[in-house]
Amino acid sequence: GKPNNGGTKLFSVSGHVNKPGNYEIPLGTPFSVLLEMAGGMRGGRKLKAVIPGGSSAPVLPGDVMMDCTMDYDSISKAGSMLGSGAVIVMDETTCMVKALERLSYFYFEESCGQCTPCREGTGWLYRVVHRIENGLGRPDDLDLLNSVTGNIMGRTICALGDAASMPVQSFIKHFGNEFMYHIEHKKCLVPVDVQREGSKIYVA
Ligand code: SF4
Repeated sequence: GKPNNGGTKLFSVSGHVNKPGNYEIPLGTPFSVLLEMAGGMRGGRKLKAVIPGGSSAPVLPGDVMMDCTMDYDSISKAGSMLGSGAVIVMDETTCMVKALERLSYFYFEESCGQCTPCREGTGWLYRVVHRIENGLGRPDDLDLLNSVTGNIMGRTICALGDAASMPVQSFIKHFGNEFMYHIEHKKCLVPVDVQREGSKIYVA
């Protein structure tokens, strides 16, 4: 590895790559090298976004990731975290609203309900993202989502509250235009047939 980031780390690469799997590489290896090891982008499509450290880690745009090395300092400097090393790769066929809806549903389901900000907040996050995805979004929904995450973070017993909030904040920060498009046009910026093409089961 490189200074302050010694040794190797296992990365579990999933998503729109040709060879999803577990790869052990020295910390400090460029993300582009890891992507190459994972067979490159499925169908040669363009990289859109990467969640570099498990579903709770803030999402990063593809071009930002391509400038990163896979170590704690580089990913942190880019605004995310290496976390569990579960690297989720998304290509240009991905609707970021739909992706966040799926993530938010997971955290809503996983909340044990012990503390109020998480129990109530994860439900609010899921329901608001769900209505945006389904063409019922309201102009102030992004402000509402940011406000709910602000009321969850740092106010819960375990880390699940923060884990549910960070994806929402980062998806809005980097892909807010897609959320606004959904709200204004009541449909997705990524055409449905393109999304269907991207979600086909693919054997490399
Ligand atoms: S933050 Fe943890 S303890 Fe609190 S409700 Fe959520 S899952 Fe339960």
